[in-house]
Amino acid sequence: PLACRPEIARLPPYNAGLGTDAVKARYGVASVVKLGSNENPYGPPPSVRDALSDLVSHVALYPEADRPLRSLIAGGLGEAESRIVLGNGSEQIIRMIPEAYVSPGDRIVTVIPSFGLHILDAEAMGGLVEAVPVTDSCEFDLPAMIEAVSKPLRMLIFSNPSNPVGCTMGESDLRALIAACPPDCLIVVDEAYREYAELDPSYPQAREILRAQSRPWIVLRTFSKAYGLAGLRIGYAVTSSDEIARTLGVVRDPFNTNIAAQLAAIGALKGADHVRRSVERTALDREFLRAELETLGLEVAPSLGNFLFFRSPVPSGELAELLLRQGVIVKPWKESGYTDRVRVSIGLPEENARFLAVLSNVLKTVA
Ligand code: PMP
Repeated sequence: PLACRPEIARLPPYNAGLGTDAVKARYGVASVVKLGSNENPYGPPPSVRDALSDLVSHVALYPEADRPLRSLIAGGLGEAESRIVLGNGSEQIIRMIPEAYVSPGDRIVTVIPSFGLHILDAEAMGGLVEAVPVTDSCEFDLPAMIEAVSKPLRMLIFSNPSNPVGCTMGESDLRALIAACPPDCLIVVDEAYREYAELDPSYPQAREILRAQSRPWIVLRTFSKAYGLAGLRIGYAVTSSDEIARTLGVVRDPFNTNIAAQLAAIGALKGADHVRRSVERTALDREFLRAELETLGLEVAPSLGNFLFFRSPVPSGELAELLLRQGVIVKPWKESGYTDRVRVSIGLPEENARFLAVLSNVLKTVA
């Protein structure tokens, strides 16, 4: 066999789970409810349809709407356009950051369970990742995180709200954690689920907190969740300096976001009302689903995201398989220590109802 770099040889490929068509084909079910990937079941705002209506007239040229999109994003955030970096999904930026900043042997701190790429992409560059477990009640373990960042450190990276758990770090904890980091450590806060979390008044303004101190920082956002554009792959980074944006520009593939994604994102930013309505509805349904899961006797983690993380009475892979047979896709957790946990995305009300009905039947058969 052809040897690859040793850092890569140790790593598994990312497992995105089965899609709707694959489940229909494998399990012979007529309809599928996909609650495995934290997508927005209400889709993008109608303004995206208009933005894409003339797409074909743009496809012959290399994409040119990068700059207008960055300018629109920057204007909305009150940041400089020169400090916004686009990615082919925020995933691509999660990879670009260690490509630019992590050398073999560098220490990285994150949490566990976590979004897999925060660990995988840092390890792929030879980073040594310390993942701090959440507490028994599925909250960030602030004292343990502070201890972990108090040693020499290249990068702190975590999502807030955290995926898959859903727990959220509030303002005073975020300040304390940042203050405990070494002065030259890069702080990356992934806000993929921000639009859901900011419905809660306790959700912190991370950029303001980060701006008020001198450590370098990156905040990540995506159009894949609340904006309903997961299929087009587009997200962005807000960076603390032009220099960081320039450095990410070195590892960025030229033309990394395509014209359809750029135009759709521009359109999506015009659809704030639709986004707000879908986010509010999802947050209400999340709390309804939480109560129903608890009625079934399940332990559910706190969540401000568009998903819930619960404890399964049988190994998570087994439960997920039993649900798949009835056309319901959820995400079983496989990280050691969390193999009894399952994440379910909040879907349309009828999708949530079908998930609950199938789950409660399955639980009777395994009890
Ligand atoms: N960060 C977090 C925390 C996520 O949960 C996800 C998607 N599951 C991403 C980033 C990646 O999103 P995308 O690449 O679609 O922007």
